[in-house]
Amino acid sequence: AAATTTTASTPTSYPTSHDQLQQPMDTQMFVDNKFVSSQATQWIDLYDPATNNLVTRVPQNTDAEMKAAVDSAEKAFPAWKATSILARQGIMFKYVALIREHWDRLAASITLEQGKTFADAKGDVLRGLQVAETACGITTQIQGEVLEVAKDMETRSYREPLGIVAAICPFNFPAMIPLWTIPIATITGNTCIIKPSERDPGACMILAELAEKAGFPPGVINIIHGAAKTVDFILDEPRIKAISFVGSNRAGEYIYQRASANGKRVQANLGAKNHCAVMPDCNKNHALNAIAGAAFGAAGQRCMALSTLVFVGETKDWAPEIAERAQQLSMNGGFEEGTDLGPVISPQAKERIEGLIASAEKEGATIVLDGRGKKPEKYPNGNWIGPTIIANVTPEMTCYREEIFGPVLVCVNVPTFEDAVQLINSNEYGNGVAIFTRSGSTAQRFQKEIEAGQVGINVPIPVPLPMFSFTGNKKSVAGGGANTFYGKPGMMFYTQQKTVTSFWRADDALSTRAKVNMPTQS
Ligand code: NAD
Repeated sequence: AAATTTTASTPTSYPTSHDQLQQPMDTQMFVDNKFVSSQATQWIDLYDPATNNLVTRVPQNTDAEMKAAVDSAEKAFPAWKATSILARQGIMFKYVALIREHWDRLAASITLEQGKTFADAKGDVLRGLQVAETACGITTQIQGEVLEVAKDMETRSYREPLGIVAAICPFNFPAMIPLWTIPIATITGNTCIIKPSERDPGACMILAELAEKAGFPPGVINIIHGAAKTVDFILDEPRIKAISFVGSNRAGEYIYQRASANGKRVQANLGAKNHCAVMPDCNKNHALNAIAGAAFGAAGQRCMALSTLVFVGETKDWAPEIAERAQQLSMNGGFEEGTDLGPVISPQAKERIEGLIASAEKEGATIVLDGRGKKPEKYPNGNWIGPTIIANVTPEMTCYREEIFGPVLVCVNVPTFEDAVQLINSNEYGNGVAIFTRSGSTAQRFQKEIEAGQVGINVPIPVPLPMFSFTGNKKSVAGGGANTFYGKPGMMFYTQQKTVTSFWRADDALSTRAKVNMPTQS
């Protein structure tokens, strides 16, 4: 049967509760500015994490469908590259306005499919929107350089698009992370293939619909679906020139290697174990609030979640006070008013996280607050784990070594500032780090001596805004972190340089003898 295609239309209503959907609709792909129903034989069921009710089925797109998306991106590229920078900027202005207009609808899709609270989902959209807003400044960001390198001879540099680029996205930021690619890749003249997480592609589909409305020509933005098979297709398709990956180390290290071996440019942000040093001289109230928020917000499913506390000296006695604040947080369905944290993404994730808590208990740590077995009354079938605090952890323990990615705060005690720095720098991850202190000199030493790439001083989740770049390091990135996401390096990633050297006084040449030596510029 022929695939059905439809043009984008805006639904007048969208789910804003966890009530079971009357008619779950299959997720479509987006090719040539059309929504296309898949002829897939394999489908991935997607459940609301708060209820485990079916929300949609996501196709494992067929090879022919994925190839059609790349054909579309290939066909669109020459005209899109030739479209003036001001025209592309004009479309981006409209895109920004439409994302803002559909902000609640995007956030609702995230709450339904991913589980985070509606307010937090709005932040997910906003952080992506800010990348698009910053991309609107392309006309000053992409300017080249020019220099008269010899008499009457000048060299100019230009930045040109790569062609077709692809993004492979994780489940935890369904709007923000596709928007780390779409605005920058397209405004610099590339066409793109986006593979959202198979666990929550809904927000990405809305972003596709809005892209069509903003005036992106057919083929500039295409969305394909699936799991590892789709990833392998992207890694091996020679027409795709660059890959942006965000997700786990397990997938990311494989993707980096295979894509690089295939000659592609890769930027890859991976897992984390973000530490926070708590100094006795800090503003205690500010620190405790910030720590509880950053450890348990989004149910700990942020790559910049504060997952590991390093109590310096006497602050080790503060764990029960953090527990008090954690207990005040309300765990409930994300659409419910006043909810602080929602469920984790899947029953498998819940089981894995509970296993890590059990391992800590077995290995001799102290469970100060145990979130296992907690659930909100209204949603008994969700994937719930309440805020959990594990104290007296040592670096050999499994809960210290593994990324937990749940609402679990692991606490290690050290006697001095130097010990804290040494412990944190010994960790193989280098995404985010924070210190709470009132001392300027302690803060300055910390920022200089600490290795992790994103440092917060009295700021628990120091994610740089899009005028800067996302600068994780060590095992939190693949390939040594040479290609960071968004900001100036993001723009560089999606473009290649061309330099043109020209001499327009050739008509004046009188000698008839050729010059064979390299010019010495003297
Ligand atoms: P994941 O690695 O399971 O999935 C990410 C993407 O890779 C998905 O699109 C998935 O389909 C694909 N994938 C998964 N397994 C694969 C495999 N074996 N082969 C090929 N492709 C595969 O990650 P996730 O669970 O969706 O996201 C959570 C992880 O992402 C955490 O480790 C978190 O720290 C990390 N993350 C990092 C950042 C950052 O900027 N450093 C941001 C967000 C999330």
